[in-house]
Amino acid sequence: MSEADCLFCRIVAGEIPAEVVHETERTLAFRDVNPQAPTHVLVIPKDHYQDAAALAAADHGLADEVLRTAHTVAEQEGVVDPGYRIVFNTGPGAGQTVFHVHGHVLGGRGLTWPPG
Ligand code: 5GP
Ligand code: ZN
Repeated sequence: MSEADCLFCRIVAGEIPAEVVHETERTLAFRDVNPQAPTHVLVIPKDHYQDAAALAAADHGLADEVLRTAHTVAEQEGVVDPGYRIVFNTGPGAGQTVFHVHGHVLGGRGLTWPPG
């Protein structure tokens, strides 16, 4: 898939609306359109990488910034205590449907483990 066709690149470009909750120079955090918890925010790098493995291999600094943005979002949302979850579905077998790396920040309700 080219970046022009990528849903999340189009959100970064402002071509598709999203409810942005936090932004840094290189990351964007916006609410999931189909929330699975009271807090369900997606954190992405603005640059296109297809999944967490590609991001980690290419740019450690950016991977770190994505994680720090995820934690900032959790603080902003007030879900740090009692806890929250950051999920990177990586590959179709794990449920990844959008191939622009994104961390799901989930919180605000009890979260069971394993997730299924
Ligand atoms: P994945 O299944 O790839 O881990 O997660 C993709 C997520 O993107 C899903 O939770 C889905 O609800 C969300 N999503 C899909 N399309 C849109 C959209 O247009 N806007 C927003 N904000 N979220 C989307
Ligand atoms: Zn993209």
